[in-house]
Amino acid sequence: MIMALPADPMIDPFGRAISYLRVSVTDRCDFRCVYCMSENMSFLPKADLLTLEELDRLCSAFIRRGVRKLRITGGEPLVRRDILTLFRGLSRHLETGALEELTLTTNGSQLSRFAADLASCGVRRINVSLDTLDAGKFRAITRWGALDKVLAGIDAAQAAGIAVKINAVALKGVNEDELVPMIRWAHGRGMDITFIEVMPLGEIEQARIDQYLPLSLVRARLAETFTLEASEHRTGGPARYVTARETGGRIGFITPLTHNFCESCNRVRLTCTGTLFMCLGQEDAADLRRPLRASESDGPLIAAIDRAIARKPRGHDFVIDRATRAPALGRHMSVTGG
Ligand code: SAM
Ligand code: SF4
Repeated sequence: MIMALPADPMIDPFGRAISYLRVSVTDRCDFRCVYCMSENMSFLPKADLLTLEELDRLCSAFIRRGVRKLRITGGEPLVRRDILTLFRGLSRHLETGALEELTLTTNGSQLSRFAADLASCGVRRINVSLDTLDAGKFRAITRWGALDKVLAGIDAAQAAGIAVKINAVALKGVNEDELVPMIRWAHGRGMDITFIEVMPLGEIEQARIDQYLPLSLVRARLAETFTLEASEHRTGGPARYVTARETGGRIGFITPLTHNFCESCNRVRLTCTGTLFMCLGQEDAADLRRPLRASESDGPLIAAIDRAIARKPRGHDFVIDRATRAPALGRHMSVTGG
């Protein structure tokens, strides 16, 4: 079914149409990845969280304003209680054609349990974050995770007919020797794989410079093994893709540090407390919880969304070097969602 776009879709001050909303439904997680969280995180009191009904209302307001793609993330979205209720509710927008895609970014730990139900809610593609195929390293990176559970989750998702893309953070001295085998493994299972540079978000124990592996270097090294052919493939996001001729599969690169990806940014990010971040790398945010709760009508909420989009900044400028020890931003990636 073809749905008419809203008469005035959301256009930011730099002429970018905002059609993609990422929603962090919880800041909690069953892992403690070393680049994402500190071991002793303090999380939001449960009372501060929007209810699933409120999250549905907020997402639906964005869809009314022209959002066509919704990604549920976290924290770990599948640890939020009754999360399927939100997916079931939002799937009505897929049925009407108002929404093109409902998707998810997950660490995969709970996927075995959820894959079939997600598929029945219209989820067709998901991103699974996986930085290594070595069980010991996996434990060291995630602190609390078990590799076999994630691999079983990926099996379950594929068995349910969901396309899986692997996201791997490139970590200096940790998984840099594994990237070629990971590509072969992913492509052998029909999965694209995207590498991500570590971003300076939130206080963690280690210095970022010790984790940071520039993808320009990764790409040059991969070119020694694979014939990398430029790909026109775009997901509307920051990843730039190549195809490895030897496997026929795609490799994506997300390079917030070596290459700024802001010019074509089409997205905004909502937290589980109803705070809207117009840019992943800037502090400015808009509170949508107040207008949401102030009125049963969506009028004030939609007005607040429009005012926020009118403030979307041109972009961000992360720096990781020896002199810059403090994170660029105080908040962790698990707050805004990756
Ligand atoms: N828990 C889910 C997961 O891991 O897929 C969803 C949320 S997680 C914050 C989303 C993505 O952000 C993951 O792929 C993770 O590897 C990535 N990430 C977290 N902290 C990061 C950081 N400081 N720099 C770069 N990527 C980061
Ligand atoms: Fe949890 Fe995802 Fe952050 Fe790892 S990257 S600690 S799985 S939110």
